[in-house]
Amino acid sequence: MNKNILCNQYIFFIKLSQSQSLFLEINHLIIYNIKWSMKNYSLLKYLPNSYYNDIFLIPYKDYLDRGIKIIFFDLDNTIADYDTHYPDESVLDLFNKLKKDGFTLFILSNNHKKRVFNFGSALDSISFHSLAKPFKNRINKYIHKYNINKDEVLWIGDQVVTDIVLSNKLGILSVLVDPINPKTEKWYTKINRFFERLILRRINKMHSNEFIELGLNKRWKK
Ligand SMILES: [Mg+2]
Repeated sequence: MNKNILCNQYIFFIKLSQSQSLFLEINHLIIYNIKWSMKNYSLLKYLPNSYYNDIFLIPYKDYLDRGIKIIFFDLDNTIADYDTHYPDESVLDLFNKLKKDGFTLFILSNNHKKRVFNFGSALDSISFHSLAKPFKNRINKYIHKYNINKDEVLWIGDQVVTDIVLSNKLGILSVLVDPINPKTEKWYTKINRFFERLILRRINKMHSNEFIELGLNKRWKK
């Protein structure tokens, strides 16, 4: 058989298996979130402890004074959009400043190894890829491996159904930020956004005081 045909077939099967595993993971995520919504587990578990427009507006000094020593940063649309492959100057400056202030910084992402490691090495931070947020198995392994005290951690992310749910499950203080550029999001993140809207709408109805106190009504209007 022609070498090129064999090669094309090989690439086709690799892509097929990748898309199947992605499909299974997405299905898992959808079922998980439906189960949570249906059971109406306390909706407050979807609420962050604080909300800011972006990572540059967070009062890190206040968190340091409260005993926070470690920051878990989500990657996609929290520190860079999906189309950006290297942190920009402002993010590099922020990470350098935070490290000087005494924070230990981690990057946590569901994205693939190469992208996450690129950012981790550029920002000189420990990075965890393919985390399968909101599931806690993988992150728990790292928490034990690095002997992390969860009371000293602040989790910053842009997604309610991954970052905030998982931080709440682990009892970690959380900050929700706006996505940098939602237009760059992949189709599976758009599915998450659909659930996020449903959940936030329900929280707005059931817990409007907490919703307004956090300023989430501003995110809602965007
Ligand atoms: Mg994200």
